[in-house]
Amino acid sequence: MNTSYLKNILTALVLFFALHAHAQTDTIKVIKAGRVLDVEKGTVLVNQIIVIQNDTIKAIGNDLAIPAGAIVIDLSNATVLPGLIDCHTHLTDGPGGNYYDNIFRKTVIDYAIVAHINAKRTLEAGFTSCRDVGSEAFMDVALRNAINNGDISGPRIDAATFFIGSTGSHGDLNGFSPYIQSTDSKQMRGIADGVEECRAQVRFNIKYGADVIKFGASAGVLTEEESVGAPQYTQEEMNAIVDEAKLWGKKTCAHAHGTLAIKMAVKAGVASIEHGSLLDDEAIQLMKEHGTYLDADIYNDDYILSEYAKFGTPQKIIDKEKLVGKAQRLSFQRAVKAGVKISFGTDAGVYPHGWNARQFKYMVKFGLTPMQAIQAATINAADLLGWKNKVGSIAPGKYADLIAVTNDPLADITTLENVQFVMKGGQVYKSIIGGK
Ligand SMILES: [Zn+2]
Repeated sequence: MNTSYLKNILTALVLFFALHAHAQTDTIKVIKAGRVLDVEKGTVLVNQIIVIQNDTIKAIGNDLAIPAGAIVIDLSNATVLPGLIDCHTHLTDGPGGNYYDNIFRKTVIDYAIVAHINAKRTLEAGFTSCRDVGSEAFMDVALRNAINNGDISGPRIDAATFFIGSTGSHGDLNGFSPYIQSTDSKQMRGIADGVEECRAQVRFNIKYGADVIKFGASAGVLTEEESVGAPQYTQEEMNAIVDEAKLWGKKTCAHAHGTLAIKMAVKAGVASIEHGSLLDDEAIQLMKEHGTYLDADIYNDDYILSEYAKFGTPQKIIDKEKLVGKAQRLSFQRAVKAGVKISFGTDAGVYPHGWNARQFKYMVKFGLTPMQAIQAATINAADLLGWKNKVGSIAPGKYADLIAVTNDPLADITTLENVQFVMKGGQVYKSIIGGK
């Protein structure tokens, strides 16, 4: 082979790669925002320029020059907010269908096959991040990975994998004959009893992809065990779960309705109390002392009471919801008044995915200002997830996760139920503002 021929090939290759590299140079986008919510300061900024390089916010200010060649997105008639974060979702689960069919006639594959639709709806509703707190068979890990790979669209996911619960707990299958049992191992059901098994379950969840640990401190509402309030782990078991997670650098959250279980979980050191239905003064004081977030799903009571009877849900479950739903909203109100840290978590999956923002109205009705409710779903939520350095506000260095609405969400919080623009990581997933 002669050398000039080789040289020609080499030159062609160099040119090809040079052009290819050029084609892959940075994408610069600029958003002209009429109003921007600064959720860190709790203020509104007007006429802002947001410069985005690839997936990251580079700069924000009112006198920035628009870089040459930038793609300009005109949101000058809209209010721009950071992407919303729901700290309590179940993207691999969803409401509807007969109660018994869901338990006995479906497999995890039935749930897995539609999970990407739930993820897409959630993202298009303006929720660019979720903490997904309980999923079977590591479906949440698969969903998270597929989204991160760009195979499907959905929010960033902080995945808990299995809900860790004791035998007979909210995480177990209750109310049926002992001859009806899963053939899965205890670990593949998230069932752990005693300190040793609890530690082993935390390791098992993390080994296969958990980002965060969730356990059942008390009984639940939508399962058939008797008391919603009763603790379902000992203090030693709760301590072991939180401590083991900490060794692996993971945060823990606890499903807890009952007063005693809430106090035990707070003492164990959980980052958040999920539901938090029956708070007393001491529980509120403990949460303040420990800096524990209250992640209370105060919207879905409406949906459960209007729809679940149609799904064939046993009356005793609906009766429990009637009891707990009302008490939970009053507990939330007291916690807000006392200054407990509040995050936004809705239990999406109990009600249809994509309706997440319907909870804002209740958070405002029960004590938060609209700005505080938005902070619960942005900067507070990012803090709870340990993601404050990458999401939760519109600031240089963070992911370009932004949403926009044409109405003023501080004047009417329900406008967030119809988000008109969604960007995640610099990519636009929805834009129905001004037909652009
Ligand atoms: Zn839940």
